[in-house]
Amino acid sequence: MTPCMPALFLGHGSPMNAIEGTVHSRQWEELGRRLPRPRAVLCLSAHWETDGWQVTATEKPRTIHDFRGFPPELQAFQYPAPGSPELAARVCQLVEGAQPNLSWGLDHGAWSLLCRLYPQAHVPVVQLGLDRRSDLVAFVELGKRLRPLRREGVLVLGSGNIVHHLGRLDWEDVEGIRPAGWAVEFDNWVAGRAQAGDLAALADAESHPLWPLAAPSREHFLPLLSILGLRAEGEDLHFPCQGVVMGSLSMRSILLDGNPCV
Ligand code: ZN
Repeated sequence: MTPCMPALFLGHGSPMNAIEGTVHSRQWEELGRRLPRPRAVLCLSAHWETDGWQVTATEKPRTIHDFRGFPPELQAFQYPAPGSPELAARVCQLVEGAQPNLSWGLDHGAWSLLCRLYPQAHVPVVQLGLDRRSDLVAFVELGKRLRPLRREGVLVLGSGNIVHHLGRLDWEDVEGIRPAGWAVEFDNWVAGRAQAGDLAALADAESHPLWPLAAPSREHFLPLLSILGLRAEGEDLHFPCQGVVMGSLSMRSILLDGNPCV
């Protein structure tokens, strides 16, 4: 039987995790060493929203520096992983209406994690844009449509943050010593619903009373829904990284370990 690839949601936090040794960047490195090496990665990043589903289809995706105010070393950072037009075509087959995109590359939601998971940049990467017109239920359904990829050696990686409120950041608390109570509460609620497989509750998260604080814009939350849509019946779910840093950024990660497989 073809081995089943895990699926992964990582809370990415600050792009500085790409170049600074932090507790989270070390955990991502450890995951990269521990998990089976994929044939390719399909990444859903909070930092690429599209009209309709779009899939990067270039041979050599460029490294996009979609942020300001960070050190020159980060502005110059390159992650030269190849693309995979073949995987892009496969995703267009699986996801009705998806279109190839030849202009986007790898944004920091993708490369700030991938440079830790696969520092040699030898695993091909394709990004799938988050459709602005789709509701939360559609993001769960998207994950379900992508399930066959797990039998084809593809690691589907969601990159966002369960709690992401930049207006409430506490810049002094990089270590996550005094997180906001509401941030911890929402993060724990999501973890509990995810563990229970309660996709209906998570697809209705916009009606949770803490949603406006936890997700004042929805794009950092959406990739999680698609990763949970990839989960097989009864598949083990783990939290390899946890914690709320800078007051209002959840760094919680979710790993579906492929046991049992879809
Ligand atoms: Zn982000």
